[in-house]
Amino acid sequence: MAKKSAAKKSSAKKTTKKKATAKKAVSKASSAKSRSAKTSKKKAAAKSSPKRVIRASGRKVVPKPAKGGKMVFNFGATKTDGDGSMKALLGGKGANLAEMTTIGLPVPPGMTITTETCAKYYESGTRLPHGLMNEVTKGMALVEKEMGKKFGDTKNPLLMSVRSGAMVSMPGMMDTILNLGLNDEAVEGLAAATGNKRFAYDAYRRLINMFGDVVMDVHHEKFEQAFATIKSKYRVELDTDVPEEGLVELCELYKEVYRKQVGDEFPQNPFKQLELAIEAVFKSWNADKAISYRRIEGIHGLNGTAVNVQAMVYGNMGETSGTGVAFTRDPSTGDSAFYGEFLINAQGEDVVAGIRTPKPVVEMKKWNKKVFDQLMKIKTKLEKHYKDMQDIEFTIEEGRLFMLQTRTGKRTGAAAVKIACDMVKEKLIDEKQALLRIPAGDLVQLLLPSFDPKKKEIADVLTRGLPASPGAAVGRPAFTADEAVERAHAGEKVILVRKETSPEDVDGMHSAAGILTSTGGMTSHAAVVARGWGKCCVAGAGEIQIDAAKGTFTVNGKKFGRKDEISIDGGTGEVIAGSISTVTPELSGDFAKVMRWADKYATMAVRTNADTPADATRAREFGAKGIGLTRTEHMFFEGPRIKAMREMILVETVEEREAALAKLLPFQRDDFVGIFRAMNGLPVTIRLLDPPLHEFLPHETESQKELAAVMGVPLSKIKQRVSMLHELNPMLGHRGCRLAVTYPEILRMQVRAIVEAAIECVGERVKAMPEIMIPLVGTVEELRLLRKEVESVIDQVKKELDFKKRLDIKIGTMIEIPRAALTADDIAGEADFFSFGTNDLTQLTFGYSRDDVNTFLPDYIGKGVLHVDPFQSLDQEGVGQLVQMGFDRGKEGNPDLKVGICGEHGGDPSSVDFCHRVGLAYVSCSPFRVPIARLAAAQAAIRHG
Ligand code: PEP
Ligand code: MG
Repeated sequence: MAKKSAAKKSSAKKTTKKKATAKKAVSKASSAKSRSAKTSKKKAAAKSSPKRVIRASGRKVVPKPAKGGKMVFNFGATKTDGDGSMKALLGGKGANLAEMTTIGLPVPPGMTITTETCAKYYESGTRLPHGLMNEVTKGMALVEKEMGKKFGDTKNPLLMSVRSGAMVSMPGMMDTILNLGLNDEAVEGLAAATGNKRFAYDAYRRLINMFGDVVMDVHHEKFEQAFATIKSKYRVELDTDVPEEGLVELCELYKEVYRKQVGDEFPQNPFKQLELAIEAVFKSWNADKAISYRRIEGIHGLNGTAVNVQAMVYGNMGETSGTGVAFTRDPSTGDSAFYGEFLINAQGEDVVAGIRTPKPVVEMKKWNKKVFDQLMKIKTKLEKHYKDMQDIEFTIEEGRLFMLQTRTGKRTGAAAVKIACDMVKEKLIDEKQALLRIPAGDLVQLLLPSFDPKKKEIADVLTRGLPASPGAAVGRPAFTADEAVERAHAGEKVILVRKETSPEDVDGMHSAAGILTSTGGMTSHAAVVARGWGKCCVAGAGEIQIDAAKGTFTVNGKKFGRKDEISIDGGTGEVIAGSISTVTPELSGDFAKVMRWADKYATMAVRTNADTPADATRAREFGAKGIGLTRTEHMFFEGPRIKAMREMILVETVEEREAALAKLLPFQRDDFVGIFRAMNGLPVTIRLLDPPLHEFLPHETESQKELAAVMGVPLSKIKQRVSMLHELNPMLGHRGCRLAVTYPEILRMQVRAIVEAAIECVGERVKAMPEIMIPLVGTVEELRLLRKEVESVIDQVKKELDFKKRLDIKIGTMIEIPRAALTADDIAGEADFFSFGTNDLTQLTFGYSRDDVNTFLPDYIGKGVLHVDPFQSLDQEGVGQLVQMGFDRGKEGNPDLKVGICGEHGGDPSSVDFCHRVGLAYVSCSPFRVPIARLAAAQAAIRHG
C-alpha cells in the first residue's frame, strides 16, 4: 500500500515537474512579442501615464514629454531643437529631419509640431491649443531668415508644406498640403520673382485643389471637372500641355468651385491657410482610413501625429533647377560608387514616374560642378553618420542644393556582402555589425542562377506557384520521369511537369533542368528533394492542369506542349512562357570572409541533409559540420536497387525478405562508405527507413507486369499485394519506426550496412562517426525495443568481422510526433541524441497534411489567418513550444543528450534564430542553405549572446 502511494506521489511530482517545464517552455518559446507585451503591461501598471505604444511587432515607446509644454520644434541651419531619437514626440519624419539638419545637411528649414500637441487638440474637444499659432509664428521667423523670403510676402513669397508624420510610418494614411502661402497677389509676385508665370499659377491651382480637398472636404472630382473644361477649351490632353493663360483661368475656376462647395472664399491670409492646414492634419489622425490602418497593423497607444511645416523648394524653376534620387553605393553590386539619376527642371515625381529619362548623376558635374561636389561630400558625411548605405532624395532650386530625405538603401545579396565587408575595411562598422547587416536569406542569390531582371520585366507570367527551391530554369515540358531522363540524355533541356512527384521520379527529377508541380507544399517530395540538389522547383501551381497522356498542360486558357519552352523561377514561384536568359553569380572573396566571421561568432553548428557522397561533398564545401539527416529511402531507387526493394516488400516470408535484403546490403554499405569518406571526421546521422512501403511499389500495370516477370509470380499476385499495402492515411500509417517493429530484418540490414561501412573506413584511415536515428518514435517502448535490436546487430557484426576496437556509434531518435515531445524525458533515457523533425512535427501539431497544405494555404495567408507557411518558417508560438519542451525534458531525462533539428526549418533564418534561443547544438539543412544557416546562426549568437 505504502509502495503504491509512494509511486503515486512520485508520479504526481513528475507531473508537476512536467507542468513547470511546460510553463517555462511556453514563456521561453513564445515570441519576443508576448514577452515584451508582458513587460510593457507590468511597466504600464507601475506608471499609468504617459501613453505607450505597442505594435504587433512588440515595439513599445514611452514619449518623453516636451520641456515646458513646448509645442513647436524648429529645424534649420541656425537652430535645431530635436534629434533622431525623438520619434515619439516629433514623429518619424520630424525626428529624421532634425537629425539630417543637425549633421549639417542642407535640409529646407521648418518646424515640427509635436505629437503631444495633437493629443491636446483631441483632449480639448478638437481645438488647437492656446498659444500654438504664436509658437508657429515665432518658428516661422527662423525659417524666413534662413530662406531669405517671407511667408505672406506678395513679392517673393516663402511657401510652406504641411505634412503629417506619426511615430510609426503610416504611408498615405494621413494628409499633405503643398504651396501654402500663395494667394491672388502672391501668385503674381512669385511669377515675377521667378520669371515663370506658368510655374506660379500651376503651384496656385495645386494649393487650391489640395486645400479644398484635404482641409474643406471638397470632392476632388469637382476640381477634375473644372480642369477638364480648361483642357477641352485649349484642346489638349495632358495637364502639362495647358498653356500659361489656361492655368490662370483654371485658378479662377478652382476658386469658384471652392466658393460653391465651401460657401466661403478661398482664404487669402497665409497664416489662416496654415492654421487650417495644421488642424486638418490633426483631424486626419482620426480619419476612418487611418484608424483602420492602425487596427490592421496593431498600432495602438500613440499620442497622435506630429505636423511638419517645411519650406517648399522647387526643382522645376528652370534650367538651373533639378531633382534626383541616389544611392551612396551601387545597390546591385555594392561598389563604392555614387549611383543615381537626376532630371533638370523637374519635380521629384517626374524621376519616379518614368515619363522623362533621367541622366546618371555623374553627368551632374557638367551641369553644375559645385552642386555635384557638394553632393559627394554629403554622401561621405551620410555614410559616416548612419554607417550604412543610404538612399537619398534631393532637389536643386536655382543652383541651391536641398536634401529632402535619407534612409537605409535596399540592396541585392551580393551588394549586401560587399558593402558589409568594405565598411569593415573602412572602419565604419565592426565584424559583428557587418554580419547583422546581411539578410541571411539573401545569400541564396549568390549561390544559384537567376533570371536576368531586365528580361524578367517584360516576361509573360502565366501563373505563380510556391517558390519551393530557388534558382532559375528554362526548358520544354516532360510529363513523366522516364521521358525526362530520355530527352535530357538526348541533350534537351526539360522541365519535369507533374501533378506531384514521388520517390519513383527521382531519376527524372535529377535529369530535368527544373521541376514544376501543380499540387504539394513547401515540404512536398518535389520541394525537399529539389532543395537538396539546389535544383529549381516551383510547387503547387494550382492553376496548371496537366494532361500527361496527351503531353500538354493548360494554364489560364493557354495550352503548352512538349515543344513549347517555359521558364520557372524557384525564387518567386513564377511560371513564365518562353525562354528567359539567366545569370550565374560568381562567389567573391568577400563571401568567404563573411562565412569565416560567421563561424567565429556562431555557437550553434550547421550540418546538412544529404543522401549521397556528392551532396555530402558539396555541403562540406559550403561549410557543413556533419550530416544531420541521411534519408536512406532515397538510396533505394537507382537501377537494380528498386527491383530488390520491391521484391523485399512483396515477398511473404521472413526468409524471402532476408534474401531480398541481402541484395540491397552491398549497395547500402557502399553508399555509407562514400558518405563517411566525404564527411571524414564529422558526424553522420543516418535515419533508418521511414516512408510507408507502398511508396516504393509500381502503380502502373506496365511496371507491375515487369516486376511479376522478374519475380516469377503472376501479375494478379503483384496487384493483390499492392492493394493490400494501400493505406487511407499513409502519413499516419505503417511508416517510421513502426516498420522496424513489424519487420526487424529491414533494420538489421541497414544497421549491418552502417557497421560494415564504418569498419571498412577504419581500414582506410577514414574516421566514420555514424549516428543511427530511429524515426517517428512516439513512445519510449518503441525506442527501447529498437535500440536493443540495433545494439545487438552492432555487436554481432563486430564479432563476425573480429573487430575489437571501439566503434563510436550513437543511437538516437527523431522528435517529430507531439507525444514524443511531451514524454521526452522518458524517451531521452534511451537516446544519445534527439533531432527535431519539424516537418512532421508541424504536420502533426497543426493537423495540416504537408502534401496537401497548398490547397488552402494561399487563402489562409491571403485572409491573414496565417502570416507565413508554417512548413517554411517554424511556428514558434505553437510547434516551438513542443520543441522547447522536448529539449528541456530531454535534457532532464539525459543531461548528456545532444539535440539538433533536421526539418526543413533548419535553413530558415528566423527558425535558426529560434533554435539558438532554445539551446540546440546544431541545425541541419539542405546543402545550398548551409551558408544561410551559418550566417543566421552567427546573427542569432550576436543578437542574443
Ligand atoms: C521531418 O519530419 O522533419 C523530417 C526531417 O523528416 P521527413 O521530412 O523525411 O519526414
Ligand atoms: Mg519526418
